[in-house]
Amino acid sequence: MSNDARTEAPAVDYRALLEEERASLEHQLGELGFGGVSGTGLSYDSNFADSSQVTAERGEAEALAGELRSALSDVERAIVRFDQGTFGVCERCGQAIAPARLEAKPAVTTCIACASIHR
Ligand SMILES: [Zn+2]
Repeated sequence: MSNDARTEAPAVDYRALLEEERASLEHQLGELGFGGVSGTGLSYDSNFADSSQVTAERGEAEALAGELRSALSDVERAIVRFDQGTFGVCERCGQAIAPARLEAKPAVTTCIACASIHR
Protein backbone atom coordinates (compact mmCIF):
# COMPACT_ATOMS: atom_id res chain seq x y z
CA MET A 1 0.00 0.00 0.00
CA SER A 2 1.34 3.40 -0.94
CA ASN A 3 0.29 6.74 0.44
CA ASP A 4 -2.12 8.63 -1.70
CA ALA A 5 -3.80 11.99 -1.22
CA ARG A 6 -6.22 10.79 1.44
CA THR A 7 -4.27 11.82 4.50
CA GLU A 8 -7.23 13.79 5.87
CA ALA A 9 -9.93 11.27 5.10
CA PRO A 10 -11.18 9.44 8.16
CA ALA A 11 -10.73 5.69 8.10
CA VAL A 12 -14.31 5.28 9.19
CA ASP A 13 -17.40 6.82 7.66
CA TYR A 14 -18.86 8.19 10.88
CA ARG A 15 -21.72 9.83 9.13
CA ALA A 16 -22.83 6.46 7.74
CA LEU A 17 -22.43 4.92 11.19
CA LEU A 18 -24.56 7.65 12.71
CA GLU A 19 -27.28 7.26 10.12
CA GLU A 20 -27.24 3.53 10.64
CA GLU A 21 -27.58 4.05 14.37
CA ARG A 22 -30.39 6.53 13.87
CA ALA A 23 -32.28 4.11 11.64
CA SER A 24 -31.81 1.36 14.17
CA LEU A 25 -33.08 3.49 17.06
CA GLU A 26 -36.08 4.67 15.05
CA HIS A 27 -36.82 1.08 14.19
CA GLN A 28 -36.67 0.04 17.83
CA LEU A 29 -38.97 2.90 18.81
CA GLY A 30 -41.35 1.82 16.09
CA GLU A 31 -41.35 -1.74 17.37
CA LEU A 32 -42.26 -0.46 20.82
CA GLY A 33 -45.19 1.36 19.31
CA PHE A 34 -43.63 4.76 19.78
CA GLY A 35 -43.34 5.34 16.10
CA GLY A 36 -40.36 7.71 15.94
CA VAL A 37 -40.75 11.25 14.68
CA SER A 38 -43.56 10.69 12.24
CA GLY A 39 -45.29 7.94 14.15
CA THR A 40 -48.80 7.79 15.44
CA GLY A 41 -47.74 8.30 19.04
CA LEU A 42 -48.67 5.96 21.82
CA SER A 43 -50.42 2.85 20.66
CA TYR A 44 -51.76 2.22 24.14
CA ASP A 45 -54.86 3.97 25.25
CA SER A 46 -57.30 4.12 28.08
CA ASN A 47 -59.12 0.99 26.95
CA PHE A 48 -56.25 -0.96 28.42
CA ALA A 49 -55.89 1.03 31.59
CA ASP A 50 -57.64 -1.63 33.67
CA SER A 51 -54.98 -4.20 33.11
CA SER A 52 -52.17 -3.85 35.57
CA GLN A 53 -50.01 -6.11 33.44
CA VAL A 54 -50.43 -3.88 30.44
CA THR A 55 -49.78 -0.88 32.64
CA ALA A 56 -46.53 -2.43 33.83
CA GLU A 57 -45.54 -3.31 30.29
CA ARG A 58 -46.36 0.18 29.18
CA GLY A 59 -44.17 1.56 31.96
CA GLU A 60 -41.27 -0.58 30.83
CA ALA A 61 -41.84 0.32 27.21
CA GLU A 62 -41.97 4.01 28.10
CA ALA A 63 -38.76 3.77 30.08
CA LEU A 64 -37.05 1.99 27.21
CA ALA A 65 -38.49 4.41 24.69
CA GLY A 66 -37.16 7.27 26.79
CA GLU A 67 -33.67 5.80 26.62
CA LEU A 68 -34.00 5.21 22.89
CA ARG A 69 -35.23 8.76 22.34
CA SER A 70 -32.35 10.12 24.32
CA ALA A 71 -29.90 8.04 22.31
CA LEU A 72 -31.64 9.13 19.12
CA SER A 73 -31.29 12.80 20.01
CA ASP A 74 -27.57 12.24 20.72
CA VAL A 75 -27.21 10.66 17.30
CA GLU A 76 -29.10 13.48 15.61
CA ARG A 77 -26.98 16.03 17.42
CA ALA A 78 -23.86 14.22 16.28
CA ILE A 79 -25.08 14.29 12.68
CA VAL A 80 -25.61 18.06 12.96
CA ARG A 81 -22.14 18.39 14.44
CA PHE A 82 -20.79 16.33 11.59
CA ASP A 83 -22.37 18.71 9.08
CA GLN A 84 -21.01 21.69 11.01
CA GLY A 85 -17.53 20.23 10.96
CA THR A 86 -17.30 19.92 14.75
CA PHE A 87 -17.82 16.19 14.89
CA GLY A 88 -15.11 14.39 16.84
CA VAL A 89 -14.35 17.46 18.96
CA CYS A 90 -15.16 17.29 22.66
CA GLU A 91 -18.05 19.59 23.58
CA ARG A 92 -16.56 20.32 26.97
CA CYS A 93 -12.86 20.84 26.45
CA GLY A 94 -12.53 21.20 22.68
CA GLN A 95 -9.98 18.43 22.37
CA ALA A 96 -10.23 15.77 19.69
CA ILE A 97 -12.10 12.67 20.77
CA ALA A 98 -10.10 9.47 20.36
CA PRO A 99 -11.03 7.65 17.13
CA ALA A 100 -11.45 4.36 18.98
CA ARG A 101 -14.06 6.02 21.17
CA LEU A 102 -15.91 7.41 18.17
CA GLU A 103 -15.85 4.09 16.43
CA ALA A 104 -17.33 2.39 19.46
CA LYS A 105 -19.99 5.05 19.95
CA PRO A 106 -20.19 7.60 17.14
CA ALA A 107 -22.70 9.74 18.98
CA VAL A 108 -20.43 10.61 21.89
CA THR A 109 -19.90 14.33 22.31
CA THR A 110 -17.18 14.35 24.94
CA CYS A 111 -13.68 12.96 25.16
CA ILE A 112 -12.99 10.14 27.55
CA ALA A 113 -11.45 12.44 30.15
CA CYS A 114 -14.51 14.71 30.27
CA ALA A 115 -16.86 11.75 30.22
CA SER A 116 -15.16 10.25 33.24
CA ILE A 117 -15.42 13.56 35.11
CA HIS A 118 -19.02 13.99 34.10
CA ARG A 119 -20.24 10.52 35.05
ZN1 LIG B 1 -13.09 16.76 26.78
